[in-house]
Amino acid sequence: MTQVSTAQAASTAQLASTAKALKCKECGAEYELKAQHVCELCFGPLEVKYDFSSLRFSVTRESIQAGPNSIWRYRQFLPVATDNYIDVGTGMTPLVRSQRLARRLGLKKLYIKNDAVNMPTLSFKDRVVSVALSRARELGFTTVSCASTGNLANSTAAIAAHAGLDCCVFIPSDLEAGKVLGSLIYSPTLMAVHGNYDQVNRLCSEVANTHGWGFVNINLRPYYSEGSKTLGYEVAEQLGWELPDHIVAPLASGSLFTKIYKGFKEFVEVGLVEDKKVRFSGAQAEGCSPIAEAFREKRDFIKPVKPNTIAKSIAIGNPADGVYAVDIANKTNGNIESVTDAEIIEGIKLLAETEGIFTETAGGTTVAVLKKLVEAGKIDPDETTVVYITGNGLKTQEAVQGYIGEPFTIEAKLDSFEQALERSRTLDRLEWQQVLV
Ligand SMILES: *Cc1c(COP(=O)(O)O)cnc(C)c1O
Ligand SMILES: [Zn+2]
Repeated sequence: MTQVSTAQAASTAQLASTAKALKCKECGAEYELKAQHVCELCFGPLEVKYDFSSLRFSVTRESIQAGPNSIWRYRQFLPVATDNYIDVGTGMTPLVRSQRLARRLGLKKLYIKNDAVNMPTLSFKDRVVSVALSRARELGFTTVSCASTGNLANSTAAIAAHAGLDCCVFIPSDLEAGKVLGSLIYSPTLMAVHGNYDQVNRLCSEVANTHGWGFVNINLRPYYSEGSKTLGYEVAEQLGWELPDHIVAPLASGSLFTKIYKGFKEFVEVGLVEDKKVRFSGAQAEGCSPIAEAFREKRDFIKPVKPNTIAKSIAIGNPADGVYAVDIANKTNGNIESVTDAEIIEGIKLLAETEGIFTETAGGTTVAVLKKLVEAGKIDPDETTVVYITGNGLKTQEAVQGYIGEPFTIEAKLDSFEQALERSRTLDRLEWQQVLV
């Protein structure tokens, strides 16, 4: 936990939170900033409402740059009331100008937002959890929890450990070993549920009603989801305080996608960047693509599906923010596409071989969709395009096992090495011949 020094507290004292209320996205009803995520009148989702009018003058590019090297440099845009937020160094991940992947795809200005190296647990979920647990502590929760497809459990367990909060997390029982270990190491209570994510989520809603726990993506969801806005802020700042022309991001519940949009809008509203029409394109795995299907069929509602894909971290069959994601793709002239598991594996390998970035299945999905959109002429080569890589490949090793070759095992002798080198060159030639036929 970050200890706030007196000097720091004094210098930021005048910067009270700009968060004003929870507001229903459907009917506009307003509620206090408490642990609640559904409107009592229409059951619509609640979202944090701010008053940024004071920020137009007090927050500048310079004041942000003088802040912490983490998401908390944007704290005036986040729903925490005090400066006692949990700062574990989350955010400010690299925005890499792509050379080799861009050339391979035929794009002139491609950037990779690399949350595969986000702190502390190597996925974008550390952003949403840092915000949710900071707010949970302000609201007086001592036990925190979540329904997770894997990464969220890792983040919640790690950041709860750091903050000294009790933690009980729920996952589907068929997750990758790296995701299970990546939670257990922090010693939470880990519930592996027989069922898919949507069933885990339903169970957690019941637990949230019977135990007084803070579920980061259920009763604390309005705060949690605001953390994803930092993926928009950072890209704008890292592009030199400019918005890109086109973004491509993965969709699970659809929350991250809609919050990048909200983040860009807010920066325009307070005058930090100039307005621009940014196109929003989304990526799903074919084995769980209810949002892509709704987009394709021009529906304004989601038909829930049963997930069946290697991209487990984005396998949500009944996505809470699906309709809002479809709406944003439509009104920004973007697209939502899906790709097969084979294409996802190719996507993981393509990013690794061209950029030296090892992403998990969600990132493979996004790269594969990027490729598909370029090939279909749905991304202009001249557009400044940002592709969001949201998780780390070391957590989903099973997905690429058997597709990446094997090491040459040799004796510690020069001639053994020379023989293996000759064999590797023969293999390369064979591969090239296969490419040529
Ligand atoms: C959770 C997750 C997403 C997408 O999350 P949303 O529910 O759409 O906000 C994307 N990538 C990874 C790696 C994730 O863990
Ligand atoms: Zn409502």
